[in-house]
Amino acid sequence: MTEVAEIVETEQKSLKVLLIEDDLADAELIQDILGSIDRINFQVTNVNRLNQGINLLSETKFDVMLLDLGLPDSKGLETIRNTKAYAADLPIIVLTALNDQKVAIEAVRQGAQDYLIKGALQIDLLVRSIHYAIERQQIEEKLRQQVKREQLLGKILERIRQSLKIEEILNISVAEVRQFFQTDRTVIYRFNSDWNGEVIVESVNPEIMSILGFKINKTCFKKNYIARYQRGEIQVINDLRDSEVNPCHVEIFTRLQTQATIVIPILEFHRDRADNTPLLWGLLSVHHCQSPREWQQWEIEFLQHLANQIAIAIQQSELYQQLEVANQKLQLLATTDGLTNLANRRQFDIVLQEEWQRLTRQQEAISLILCDIDFFKLYNDNYGHVVGDSCLQQIASTIGKAVNRPADLVARYGGEEFAIILPNTEITGAMNVAEKIHRAVTNLKIPHERSPVSKYVTLSLGIASTIPIHARSCTYLIKLADRALYQAKSQGRNRIISADNQSPVIVDNKF
Ligand code: GH3
Ligand code: MG
Ligand code: MG
Repeated sequence: MTEVAEIVETEQKSLKVLLIEDDLADAELIQDILGSIDRINFQVTNVNRLNQGINLLSETKFDVMLLDLGLPDSKGLETIRNTKAYAADLPIIVLTALNDQKVAIEAVRQGAQDYLIKGALQIDLLVRSIHYAIERQQIEEKLRQQVKREQLLGKILERIRQSLKIEEILNISVAEVRQFFQTDRTVIYRFNSDWNGEVIVESVNPEIMSILGFKINKTCFKKNYIARYQRGEIQVINDLRDSEVNPCHVEIFTRLQTQATIVIPILEFHRDRADNTPLLWGLLSVHHCQSPREWQQWEIEFLQHLANQIAIAIQQSELYQQLEVANQKLQLLATTDGLTNLANRRQFDIVLQEEWQRLTRQQEAISLILCDIDFFKLYNDNYGHVVGDSCLQQIASTIGKAVNRPADLVARYGGEEFAIILPNTEITGAMNVAEKIHRAVTNLKIPHERSPVSKYVTLSLGIASTIPIHARSCTYLIKLADRALYQAKSQGRNRIISADNQSPVIVDNKF
């Protein structure tokens, strides 16, 4: 009777048996055998139709089923299939006649845990069979659960890895965990540099109080727990009313209306940290609010694993963001002129090319203004390069302010030359902009005592406008504007010349 002793020791002392057997003698024999065992209380319910048995399954939770394969309402393998559909988790032992062994083996293949041959029933055999059937079923169930958990973890991790946005990563995590744990609330608490912090993400049962934005400002928490979390310790509370629960936790979780919780630290491992200790980034926590809850070891391990993966994902996302910022800076450096902060020549070339192509398709006008400071060499010679630089900056900013449309581009074209691209702008519009620039620079009244044309710094401007066509490249427009600028210079400077009519439109000889 060692097997019986084993059951008594390791399993329940009372087992509910559903015996579906229509043969009265067989049923009685089995009940007699089971009844003769003192140390386990077998509570046997006997029915003689499969239907009756299935009906009972919804009312009572049985530990094992003994199932005859030759019933009035179901015969052979059909019986096992029908039963499995209603009781996937219940261990089944098939009872079969001597000459039906093949069917019995097939029944085991289809999900029965074991078979017994009627007429050869022995007390040891029956008890051992029941014992192993229950055990095997439990192992199978555990395996099923484990596969399910691993699949879910894989699914969450896949979704987390797909994203580089911290917010998205955290939101996915809390939502999936809450759903899988069938719990009331899952939150992530984020620490600041001064160890204050708040709940930054939450997934919550709509019937439960939201704690988004909640801050823990208890000194006892800072004093007792932060160091522990930093070391990777986790907190598991099955029932807040337990006497061993720390009063600090009791206070916090009472406020959060939480009866059971697991709190797992999210730790970042930075290679560059001097002492090699992890950085406590935050806490991942599940809250059970409507009742206490006996957390399972696998649940704790599952969360622990997830928290590690979240930490990695956060770190990756942070690195990605740093890279993004660096790239943006680099992009700015590559496209901007350092002295004036205007677009540089390279950017001018790119934008002009793009606009040229776009407006070729649209068949709309594009205008270009080229400006050049008059006698700037003399200016530098007279005032020095430092003053020259600041004069360039002043003029650059003035030109920048004179141009309004978002699509317009003001660039430093060369040393003391500026270029303005005006997409979807005809010559009259370009002329308005050029006049505005000229006026604004004149109004700056930057002294230039050695200029032969004025007491102040002046600009010469050449403008050109065209509707681009495929046969021409954008250099055509540059050449037109350049020629106009050359004319402005040769005709006396401090003026605007339009490439269209080649005649001066402003001759400002007031100074
Ligand atoms: P023009 O009226 O014919 O344009 O005469 P200009 O003296 O302005 O023309 P030129 O091309 O002979 O000289 C341009 C001068 O602009 C030469 C250089 O001293 C000055 N310059 C170019 N780039 C810079 C700069 O970045 N900083 C300073 N301070 N001066 C610059
Ligand atoms: Mg010049
Ligand atoms: Mg020049």
